[in-house]
Amino acid sequence: MIADEWQQARRLAVSEHRLLRRHARAVLALSLLQASLLVIFQELGLLNASTLYYRSLLAGLVVLAALYTVLIELGVTLRWREPSLSKPMSLGLVAVLLATAYPMEGGRIGAMMLFYPLMLLVSFRLGIRALIVVAVFASGGYALILALAIANHGVRLNVTLEVLQWLVFTLVGFSFVVTGSGVNGLRRSLAVKNHALADALEQVRSLAIRDDLTSLFNRRHIMEVLDRQKALADSRDYPFSVCYVDLDYFKRINDAYGHDCGDRVLRQFAAHTLGGLREGDYLARLGGEEFILVLPQSHLEGAQRVAERLRESWAAHGFAADNGPPSVSLSIGVAEYRRAETIDQLIARADRALYLAKSGGRNRVCLAQEQATG
Ligand code: GH3
Ligand code: MG
Ligand code: MG
Repeated sequence: MIADEWQQARRLAVSEHRLLRRHARAVLALSLLQASLLVIFQELGLLNASTLYYRSLLAGLVVLAALYTVLIELGVTLRWREPSLSKPMSLGLVAVLLATAYPMEGGRIGAMMLFYPLMLLVSFRLGIRALIVVAVFASGGYALILALAIANHGVRLNVTLEVLQWLVFTLVGFSFVVTGSGVNGLRRSLAVKNHALADALEQVRSLAIRDDLTSLFNRRHIMEVLDRQKALADSRDYPFSVCYVDLDYFKRINDAYGHDCGDRVLRQFAAHTLGGLREGDYLARLGGEEFILVLPQSHLEGAQRVAERLRESWAAHGFAADNGPPSVSLSIGVAEYRRAETIDQLIARADRALYLAKSGGRNRVCLAQEQATG
């Protein structure tokens, strides 16, 4: 079935929300890792800070990570300019790293290590400028906490080693900016290709379900629609009806005014009929000058009224201004679905009603009253 193939194709095209959720899960993992490190540092007595400082930091980290995850999972940010919120998220996480590193004495750089996987992660999302901002914030922040630590406990520290570690951290951080910009270029070209793929898929889908001349649904697609209506009607007692529509004496129009004029009439019929339909109704071209209207939630009488209205409004539509016939009439056969009959049987009943309309003189609506036959 086309619908299944379409679903499969959609799964192949990468959805933005799916990617965002994957990104958010990676951020959550990083935050949890940082929270675990914080607990380990505290348990080992490496944090030279008050319990309040430690608890506030841990709580802040958990709350921010939870808030970020919820926003992304719910898709709240999808319409925002930068839906992954990578820049504020990175700055927030770096602030937590700095706040962890400040009271660390000995191995301060260890508390900053998660900065690198963070840079790797956001290089899929951020442009080069934003990456530089994050790297400058991390390096500048590190310099600041180092200066504060030296000012406060300078005597206890090996200042040369601390400054050397800061320098290494900064250099490696900026090398991540350079690699990140490469990743960024790749990401942008992938995004362009992803859009092109989505457009192509949409075109293929349209070609598969639409008729070339009128752009109405084609026979194959309307059969799928009818199968779904039948399933609904059988399982939940939803009524539905069909109108089998045929333009009268169409061959004469082609003969008298030319094939192009016939084509124009078919296109105008499609536009005219679509304009008068309720939302949820379906119109398809079965072939030639034959069409089918599928009317969900309609019993025979309701469908008859729709068919009569269409017949009358279409008869009033003239083509003289377009070098065509004064008007073109319609004959319509209407049938309501009867439980357990096949779609072929339903259409055959509508077709027989159409035949009655034709043999009764055309330009009329006839109803299918007879029982379904095997
Ligand atoms: P009736 O009132 O009994 O329906 O007569 P009719 O002439 O409409 O029916 P018939 O089946 O004899 O002829 C249908 C015509 O529709 C024949 C064919 O040339 C024309 N036709 C089929 N497809 C197209 C199309 O895509 N474009 C045009 N212009 N004509 C088409
Ligand atoms: Mg006809
Ligand atoms: Mg016909």
